[in-house]
Amino acid sequence: MPDTIGLYIHIPFCEKKCLYCDFYSACLHEKVYSDYLTALIREIKAWGSKVESRVDTIYLGGGTPSVLKSDIILILSAVRESFNVTTDAEITAECNPNCSFEFLESAKKAGVNRLSFGIQSGSDEKLKLLGRRHTVSMAKAAVKKAREIGFDNISLDIMIALPESDCKSLQEDINFICGLNPEHISAYILKIEQNTAFYSMRERLKLPGEDDTAVQYLTVCKELKRNGFEHYEISNFARKGKISRHNLKYWRCDEYLGIGPSAHSFLLGKRFYYPRDIKGFINGNEPIPDGVGGDRLERIMLGLRLSEGVNINFFSGDITEKAKELQKAGFIKLKDGRISLTDEGMLVSNSIITELIYENL
Ligand code: SF4
Repeated sequence: MPDTIGLYIHIPFCEKKCLYCDFYSACLHEKVYSDYLTALIREIKAWGSKVESRVDTIYLGGGTPSVLKSDIILILSAVRESFNVTTDAEITAECNPNCSFEFLESAKKAGVNRLSFGIQSGSDEKLKLLGRRHTVSMAKAAVKKAREIGFDNISLDIMIALPESDCKSLQEDINFICGLNPEHISAYILKIEQNTAFYSMRERLKLPGEDDTAVQYLTVCKELKRNGFEHYEISNFARKGKISRHNLKYWRCDEYLGIGPSAHSFLLGKRFYYPRDIKGFINGNEPIPDGVGGDRLERIMLGLRLSEGVNINFFSGDITEKAKELQKAGFIKLKDGRISLTDEGMLVSNSIITELIYENL
């Protein structure tokens, strides 16, 4: 058993599905919600009796953890009773900006010390287009309330390449998000996934083209750096000392346990996941094995997502020529024996990582 692990808890409920979202969640239904809480606590206790590692990060994601309201206290109490949670554990809860203040207050009481708000845009029109339930003024009020309650580690999401967006509207979104003074920002390029409402509307959406999307991504990288954020992972930016410790585990191939439908785990070298099925979870369905994890290639693939990059000795073959070629093209940096991607490289990370790995087979 590793000395420490991360714990992910999935809350698979949303008030209404956003038009672009393919995360696993269902509309809130009172009976299913209460059965789910019972099942979640059952699983937390069952895992707690098997896992000896200390838990030094906890992440409540979704779906929408803020639908829990005061039940977050129940869940985190069950976690503390079942696992050895370190005193300095990072405990994050995702929140919708239209969440109740009761949730924010309960989260604080329960020991949550990091909030992540899905703000996405500083334009009411864009939020409506995305099918979000919140408005710009709700976003401002939620962050203000969180500060008043005492949260000093807040992450905000911003979306890139929205329908009908251009660099000017993106700049307005960046200004709005930075104006809320977060410690951390996650910036995601909108992808049109199958099984979303956006997929069936895709011809009508007026999405920016590839080149405009690239310009938008690089604008976000430049502007967030100018505002004092370190670009530490393809989609993540943090003020000094505020990198997400939980998410870092995923990219560094550290071990973690995920509980809830669609939650993935990497424990004792093995990967497994709970199926995307709330009822199955309630009925006690077991997680499904998903092979072994953490081999050299996987560590390279995940490590290259981070600005710290990967030690060149990690590559078994000779990648010098390929690395020089990619460096000359501006896609990677070679420094102190490590390879990392530039902002331009992060934009096309999949193909650069594939090129480096192909060289290494
Ligand atoms: S609130 Fe989040 S998880 Fe729920 S539908 Fe919207 S984007 Fe998806």
